[in-house]
Amino acid sequence: MQYMYEANIAIAAAKRASILCKHVQHSVKFTSLNKPDQSPVTIADFGAQAIICKSIAEAFPNDAIVAEESSSLLRQSVSQLRAVQRLIPDATSDQILDWIDLGQGKVRERFWTLDPIDGTKGFLRKEQYAIAIALIESGEVKVGVMACPAFEEGCLFVAIREQGTRRISLATGETQMLSGSDSPTFRLVESIETSHGDPERQRAIAQSVGLTAPTLQMDSQAKYGAIALGHAVLYMRLPWKEKLDYRENIWDHAAGAIIVEEAGGRVTDMNGSALNFAIAPQLVENHGIIASRGELHAAVLASIAQQMS
Ligand code: AMP
Ligand code: MG
Repeated sequence: MQYMYEANIAIAAAKRASILCKHVQHSVKFTSLNKPDQSPVTIADFGAQAIICKSIAEAFPNDAIVAEESSSLLRQSVSQLRAVQRLIPDATSDQILDWIDLGQGKVRERFWTLDPIDGTKGFLRKEQYAIAIALIESGEVKVGVMACPAFEEGCLFVAIREQGTRRISLATGETQMLSGSDSPTFRLVESIETSHGDPERQRAIAQSVGLTAPTLQMDSQAKYGAIALGHAVLYMRLPWKEKLDYRENIWDHAAGAIIVEEAGGRVTDMNGSALNFAIAPQLVENHGIIASRGELHAAVLASIAQQMS
């Protein structure tokens, strides 16, 4: 089956990264550093990116990787670098820095995009976070693998284009195909961070299409997993009116988007355009994100268009 080998490499890497992240969360004293944009990053983000990039580069030496982190902050902090090295004891510090920077690749005809910890704020709060890996080829996301160690008993979502979405238990290995046919909970899911989407506008749109149950809030791309599983029927990320120029990062959405689509749902931007992951590290052609189980999608887009007119 096409892309099965790619998916298996990404699954193995995501599982290793999730063990590393859980180990840091439960057994290591650590602090977070602030990146230039003031977002937090931890030794688990760096360690997870190092081992995932190494796995992808060994299996696919010709593929580029476009990943969220770079080694620059770690190069400035010997103590943090030592802490990452303790997580990957068979590697030298130079190897770790080089593996992290394998993720500084350029968008090409075929490339991987990776967020080693999406939702680092959730990771720090011991809430939801996701390890998200996607393969983009010929203008389309072909494979999405997302480990969510804190979701239910710990789960891994795996989607391959035209081959469906699977949920694999990180605890037992039990596998379930997600077809979108089970009965979902009719509610909205949105970010916990109110700066990442305008909750008032999101909730007004949700109410206008009949979603009146209390909203589910969670960090990271785990929200796409919640839609694929039917824990919610609609995920909205509508930029604040003052921040209409914000462009989403491809690594924040590529894996999640194919996971929802292959589970029978639909993903577009707030204008109904397809998300274009294939031209830049950001979704430069898109504004906002709408992901749904399908049925409500057209009504949501119509409601947004009416609100904006
Ligand atoms: P979430 O956990 O859904 O709140 O999303 C976390 C992601 O939001 C991070 O990985 C950031 O890349 C991204 N982010 C940062 N600032 C913004 C913003 N102003 N609007 C939308 N997303 C943002
Ligand atoms: Mg992220």
